[in-house]
Amino acid sequence: MTKKMLTGGLAAAGLMALMAGGSPAVAQQKFVTIGTGGVTGVYYAVGGAVCRLMNKDRATTGIRCSVESTGGSVFNVNAIKSGELDFGLTQSDVQFNATKGEAQFKGKADPDLRAVFSVHPEPFTVLSRKEANITKFEDFKGKRFNVGNPGSGTRASMEELLAKMGWKLSDFSLAAELKADEQGTALCDNKVDGFFYGVGHPSAAIQDPTTSCGAKLVSLTGSAVDALIKEHPYYAKATIPGGMYANNPNPTDTYGVLATVVTSAKVPEATVYAMTKAVFDNFDEFKKLHPAFANLDPKKMVKDGLSAPLHPGAIKYFKEKGWM
Ligand code: GLU
Repeated sequence: MTKKMLTGGLAAAGLMALMAGGSPAVAQQKFVTIGTGGVTGVYYAVGGAVCRLMNKDRATTGIRCSVESTGGSVFNVNAIKSGELDFGLTQSDVQFNATKGEAQFKGKADPDLRAVFSVHPEPFTVLSRKEANITKFEDFKGKRFNVGNPGSGTRASMEELLAKMGWKLSDFSLAAELKADEQGTALCDNKVDGFFYGVGHPSAAIQDPTTSCGAKLVSLTGSAVDALIKEHPYYAKATIPGGMYANNPNPTDTYGVLATVVTSAKVPEATVYAMTKAVFDNFDEFKKLHPAFANLDPKKMVKDGLSAPLHPGAIKYFKEKGWM
């Protein structure tokens, strides 16, 4: 009885200390969340790698990082603005448009969006069903095509391409809005003939359908693509190397953007500094956490694809390193 009361008393005291923020370890614990994309994409791997490195320093920084799978770039930028997410991955074109108030952000520029660093290239990747007899993007006219879920960067970039080509969604017999994680299965199950996905390579989202049903990469070239590259600083030509995926021995020419990490001006300098330091102090380890990170170069990551102002926490770290 005495013992029980004593234990109960201690537990209650402990609980009260917790509630009052009395335990120093608990009081200092801070949670940050990184918004990514589908789990078969590369954003999710970036988030996982960043959190893993940040969490190693948890005892000193007091920051606990967690990853959230989301609908993608546009969702992440909007969720950062509303304070629902602290960090997010976003395509460089979406970062640009959100910063300047263009395209899908027309009249809704976000003055608080801040860049942290850029990551891997994301070539726009078109995949077709082997039996659909597609040799170029134009062959999808009148066919069933996945244009991406609303909220994805993929969908935003798809719409920009279709507008430049003078196509409407009704030019497809079906314009599906499946999420990134659903489109590979839909392709192999003959529910769609193709899809468009802005993603780093290699990614499981492309590995699965190329391996399991021999899906084919389709090049994305021509006058509309050339015009987009000429008009927009965030687009560049890109090539998906031959042999990266099963049943696709030849290189695929396309164009693309960069993946970037963004945050809000409202996120404290110490938090952004801790993230930047965790990634770049452990860069060799970071690069090993996903094959799409193999060619990353810190000198480029601190400037390429960043159109929003850099967050002061990132600037502090880059200056210490002499990168700025
Ligand atoms: N770029 C894609 C998007 O924003 C996400 C790619 C990924 O998850 O790796 O829709």
